[in-house]
Amino acid sequence: MSEFGDRVRGPLAPSAGAQRPLSVDDVDIEGGPLGRWQRINRDASIPLGLDRMERSGAVPNLRLAAGEGSGSFRGYRFQDSDLYKQLEAVAWEHCRQPGDAYRAFIDESAALLSRAQRPDGYLNSHYQTVKPDKIFAELEYSHEMYCAGHLFQAAVAAARAGCGDALLAVARRFADLLVNRFLTGGDDGIDGHAEVETALVELYRLTQERSYLELARKLVDNRGKGLIADSGMGPLYAQDHLPVREADTAVGHAVRQLYLEAGIVDLYLETGDESLLECSVGRWEDMVATKTSITGGHGSRHDGEAFGERYELPPDRSYNESCAAIASIHWNWRLLLATGQGRYADLIERTLYNAFAASTSADGTRFFYVNPLQRRADLFEDAYLGRRREWFACACCPPNIMRLVSSLGHYVATTDAEGLSVHQYVPGIIRAGGVTLAVETDYPWDGRVRFTVRSAPGTEWTLKLRVPAWSASGELIPNADGYAEIRRAWKPGDTYVLDLDMSPRLTLPHRRIDALRGCAAIERGPLVYCFEQADQDADIEDLALTPGTRLRAVERDLPGIGRTVQIEADAVRLPAAPPHGLPYATAPTDLPAGTPATATAVPYHQWDNRDGGVMRVWIPLA
Ligand SMILES: [Zn+2]
Repeated sequence: MSEFGDRVRGPLAPSAGAQRPLSVDDVDIEGGPLGRWQRINRDASIPLGLDRMERSGAVPNLRLAAGEGSGSFRGYRFQDSDLYKQLEAVAWEHCRQPGDAYRAFIDESAALLSRAQRPDGYLNSHYQTVKPDKIFAELEYSHEMYCAGHLFQAAVAAARAGCGDALLAVARRFADLLVNRFLTGGDDGIDGHAEVETALVELYRLTQERSYLELARKLVDNRGKGLIADSGMGPLYAQDHLPVREADTAVGHAVRQLYLEAGIVDLYLETGDESLLECSVGRWEDMVATKTSITGGHGSRHDGEAFGERYELPPDRSYNESCAAIASIHWNWRLLLATGQGRYADLIERTLYNAFAASTSADGTRFFYVNPLQRRADLFEDAYLGRRREWFACACCPPNIMRLVSSLGHYVATTDAEGLSVHQYVPGIIRAGGVTLAVETDYPWDGRVRFTVRSAPGTEWTLKLRVPAWSASGELIPNADGYAEIRRAWKPGDTYVLDLDMSPRLTLPHRRIDALRGCAAIERGPLVYCFEQADQDADIEDLALTPGTRLRAVERDLPGIGRTVQIEADAVRLPAAPPHGLPYATAPTDLPAGTPATATAVPYHQWDNRDGGVMRVWIPLA
């Protein structure tokens, strides 16, 4: 099928790997949750984001840097990155469905950025207008290269999406400055927030300018050597405690670790340096086994927005930043392309439908920054009582969410020498290497996926379909990578039907996860469920699932949520806890006789669309 080096209109276009990605517009997602997310992203989230670029100061700050505005800098030192992520979202949206307003936003932004950029190529509105004497002098927390990385990714997106090269020209001037200073100029500085590494590799892929790749390599190789000054958060926070080839577990600020991993695998894909893939896969296996929420979320600690210790996975205090879910999907996508292994697509699916999807309200106008697995009744530390908000002072998440949703088509399928691999099941059309494949499905509500070949070359080729780890494979015998292979000389009109087991299932935590001991969660297909107070007859905190509980899937249309499949479970309602005395006793207190009740669960990604009531993913077993 398609060769590497073909032009990919998508976030990632590696020159090698086991699998080759498709363009954002090679896949039309027509319905299902992903189609719905793309629709609300276009109709509600992106318009809201564009409005916020002005109101939050992101665009006015750049006018100040260009010497055109009045007033003073507003927001964080990384405020520019909000605009860059918004630009990337708009570029992929333009690639999917061209729009004059999108093109105008990109052109106007590129012109503004060009005017704001210094003659030497430097561009950061905070440092230019607030701290010009500190440019590149406080990299441990300046986010200057982090912002540059998001600029590079936006510029790559605009160029690949057919939105001209004006943004790319700005990006290259800045990248050239970074090369002159940090690669050939002898400065060993590294940004405290990894991100520029993966972006530099992509800029290299687009431009074939090798110094961008070499700078990415130097930045990755030098992390962990104590070259980053202490930001006050310690070396683990910025993954500067050990060289990447020696670190065996994910630590510190979760988003930084995960973006760093994306850059490491990108470097492997372009250089073939096996030691990079090996260390990254080692940390992936450790992270999956010991530091991953059932939703795919990462970061157990509010303190430092950080990974915790192994098995430190508290449901109520888990941080699970929306950006961490996005960065994890980026990393897993690179590992999937590098190795062809379905376990990475499995984690993408888990993260996409749960930790990531929960970040956005059903109408696309409010967002979570933090995605815990439990909300208590007396939540008091957060002025918003743990509910989604329209925007944030630190707004890293909303535009990041938008850029992933607008590019979702890129993550559905890939090609290799044998044929076409489908990793995520969405209704619509997949076009790849002379093949047009129609996909009909009601996934994830239903497990049946029907593929119909609309056009195909006359030769034999293989359709590879991921068999998720959660699905009993039935008649399908997946290969070692987790894919069922159907090899034929496919003709137009040929069909294949995949049936995945959508029986609801009870999931138990590893015994070492202390915070979850004695609890269970409910899953169905790729969806993790939660219990919201709105669906219960009794106080959630008095409910416990009975041993051997029967789980019943019930299709419903709920106010505020829309279409869903709820799960009803046999439960007991326990007497309310005594109001006085210590909550400890020598005799068991947690197994009093209860009265039969029903506990009703809703998909986690649909929570917080009704009231601000109690929610929990993990519920006690009676
Ligand atoms: Zn974020």
